[in-house]
Amino acid sequence: MTVVWISHAASEGHVTPEGHPERIERMAAVEAALDGLPLERRYAPMAADAEVLRCHPQSHLDRIRRAEPVEGIVGLDPDTWMSPGSFEAAMRAVGGTCAAVDLVLAGEASSAFVGCRPPGHHAEREKPMGFCLFGSVAIAARRALDHHGLGRVAVVDFDVHHGNGTQDLLWDEGRALFVSSHQMPLYPGTGAVDERGAHGQILNLPLAPGSGSAEMREAWEAAFRRIEDWQPELILISAGFDAHAADPLANLNWREEDFRWLTGRLCDLAAASCGGRVVSTLEGGYDLAALAASSAAHVGVLLERSA
Ligand SMILES: [Zn+2]
Repeated sequence: MTVVWISHAASEGHVTPEGHPERIERMAAVEAALDGLPLERRYAPMAADAEVLRCHPQSHLDRIRRAEPVEGIVGLDPDTWMSPGSFEAAMRAVGGTCAAVDLVLAGEASSAFVGCRPPGHHAEREKPMGFCLFGSVAIAARRALDHHGLGRVAVVDFDVHHGNGTQDLLWDEGRALFVSSHQMPLYPGTGAVDERGAHGQILNLPLAPGSGSAEMREAWEAAFRRIEDWQPELILISAGFDAHAADPLANLNWREEDFRWLTGRLCDLAAASCGGRVVSTLEGGYDLAALAASSAAHVGVLLERSA
């Protein structure tokens, strides 16, 4: 079956300041890495406002829409910027992730990778932060639950930074298991093991700076049992590649092989519980070569498992 790759040129219309790690060039790196793989390309559609409102209040959507400058760039905080085109880019990142859910749940694709920017997992209910404007993966999870009527989904976040936004948006959502591994201490500072969600459905896996393959595999083994017990009807992945040893923003020592291993194990779980249905969406990854190699490794596994 098909693996769909969802992207849009609007991702390159979101401009950040000179020297900012979350930059336009990330898209070309991913593009070059995935080009030539037998993926089915789709353009990310704009999300309807109602999709964003699954997780954010109208006031947040209005604030982001109004914050977009007519020219130049504006900072919403020291990390999070908007340029002309940022709103469309963010709405297509949300729309692309929702479209991926639709395609996979319709059986038109076995899995999907959404390669859009800005990323989403730091955006809280009423607060853009950490390069993120809207919580794309949490919104897509809610779409799977509320629009498609699934009873249980799992959202898995292996970005090196804690998915505080996803945790905030899904804190009360008893139908969504959220599992995040992340370096601790590190931005944004959340993600301790005692943050468990309103229904005990959040599992945080903090990893020590300097740790690598052995430590991440041990932490994830425990999480796999939790995901297996959850019996998700869809697995959504916040795929950040900034735990890579070469990444400039953090100090974990993962390699491509670790992303390949983790993706494979998540595909095993999806095969056992939900016919292999996986929707993965790009989060971080700031060393361009490592981002390219790691995203190719990740998507390569999705392809192998779809055969
Ligand atoms: Zn990150």
